Amino acid sequence: MLDAALNVPTPVNEPVLGYGPGSPEKARLKAALERISKETVEIPCVIGGERVTTGRLEPVVMPHRHRHVLGHFHCADADVAERAVRAAADARREWATMRWEDRAAVFLRAAELLATTWRDTLNAATMAGQSKTAHQAEIDAACELIDFWRFNVHFADQLYRQQPISSPGVWNQTDLRPLEGFTLALTPFNFTAIAGNLPTASALMGNTVIWKPSESQMVAAWHTYRLLEEAGLPPGVINFVPGFGHELAPMFVDHPDFAALHFTGSTEVFRSLWKRTAANLDRYKSFPRLVGETGGKDFIVAHPSADPQAVATAIVRGAFEFQGQKCSAASRVYVARSVWAQIEDELIATIDALKVGDVADFSNFMGAVIKQAAFDRHAAAIAEARETPGMAIRAGGQTDGREGWFVRPTLITTDDPGVRLMRDELFGPIVTVHVYPDAAWSEMLRVVDATSPYALTGAVFARDRGAIVEASGALRHAAGNFYVNDKPTGAVVGQQPFGGARASGTDDKAGSALNLLRFVAARTIKETFVPPTDWRYPFLREA
Ligand code: NAD
Repeated sequence: MLDAALNVPTPVNEPVLGYGPGSPEKARLKAALERISKETVEIPCVIGGERVTTGRLEPVVMPHRHRHVLGHFHCADADVAERAVRAAADARREWATMRWEDRAAVFLRAAELLATTWRDTLNAATMAGQSKTAHQAEIDAACELIDFWRFNVHFADQLYRQQPISSPGVWNQTDLRPLEGFTLALTPFNFTAIAGNLPTASALMGNTVIWKPSESQMVAAWHTYRLLEEAGLPPGVINFVPGFGHELAPMFVDHPDFAALHFTGSTEVFRSLWKRTAANLDRYKSFPRLVGETGGKDFIVAHPSADPQAVATAIVRGAFEFQGQKCSAASRVYVARSVWAQIEDELIATIDALKVGDVADFSNFMGAVIKQAAFDRHAAAIAEARETPGMAIRAGGQTDGREGWFVRPTLITTDDPGVRLMRDELFGPIVTVHVYPDAAWSEMLRVVDATSPYALTGAVFARDRGAIVEASGALRHAAGNFYVNDKPTGAVVGQQPFGGARASGTDDKAGSALNLLRFVAARTIKETFVPPTDWRYPFLREA
């Protein structure tokens, strides 16, 4: 019991560790990676705090050594799904009525555990299971997730403090109630931080959750869940339900208590879930909140005044880090001919020299792509470029799936800016470049805006201020995260709230108050201290 108006700790972004030669963090991470690589973890469902096994086991493998099994997960079934919904309803009674600061403390403690004793485990699991390099794992599994947990508490505090004005004799209040029902969190493979954020953002606001992680991120998801248990998350607040999305999601989306979807993944899956929700509308107790951050076809557009070296660096980092499997990764580039002439040779040589391989070897810049289906998709795109007149593979283009699903960083040029590789999301280390005549700048901006259905991230490079202003206006709706003279990846929680519109999602900006607002139903309370006791208004009297 506490009578106090509390101030929550002021969040700061978690510093990124360098993992330089001889550093203690490098030694610790290598040891954790070795430990995780040696064990074969068995991942159960967790319902109401209880470990539940179903016996239907699916393997989780290392993408860069795909015969290496890291563990097996128990696929949830209809019975587990039903129990998860009941557990969420049971836990809701206490969690939704708890002081919000007590809920916040669980996630602040989780952030602290991740910054200290759990950091190496979650980073190593992300390296082994998702084929991230040490740096990519550190900025995701450690720093971004810590930031989500700390900053969301700060944003929730701001939301709760937003109260209406009151007139004399009256006290008006806003009560941000949790939703009536459960939240379904369906999370993607590519970010351990997003996987950790989607269930916990809703839980922070007083909701109880069913979390179905991606089949390809299961090891890091499992360690995240265990961390949350250690942080003191009460049983049933987040129920851990491994399995395949197309089998499990309908069991939850069809339930009358389905109150919210917190989704990150592909556009097609989000659309199918939205359609299913629409078809179910008559059976729900409330209108479910649908929050989805989906695909991207992210661009870099370079004006003739751009710094050529800055453009080249943005292409290498923006397109190829984590094998281009960031929703924000640059995958279509429009460069003025005069700029291209200055970077072409060196850029191609740089890309061809990038080291690709096992992420346990810290000298590799890239690991493998996530699974066989992704590998096949990338190989097909490269073959398509090879066969299309006007397209040329200028760097990379090789694939080798024998040990791991390795795709060399690939740069393709195209004469036609409307080809499929400039429109569709590939989600791999393939970037397509269109070189345009310097005089066609304004026309190019119209092409950038209209070519792809997505609108997630985009970057403009220019030194001419007028060009920046023109691009910002012409591309206002082409990207939810717009970068000026910077690569289109690497959004930081609290600094660049993340999300896009059009086919890229509902733009609810993960890591901001806007996102948390989707998981509450506001109640307005008006209290009149001395209510009137005479129903007659003065105007009714003639004299
Ligand atoms: P995915 O759509 O394949 O899977 C996402 C989740 O949905 C997983 O948990 C999966 O099991 C589940 N799922 C898959 N098929 C389903 C179905 N038919 N019905 C219900 N659920 C289903 O996405 P992914 O491959 O894990 O992630 C890559 C995608 O995510 C890319 O399109 C990428 O752009 C997008 N992404 C977007 C953002 C963003 O913030 N906009 C961030 C990260 C990833």
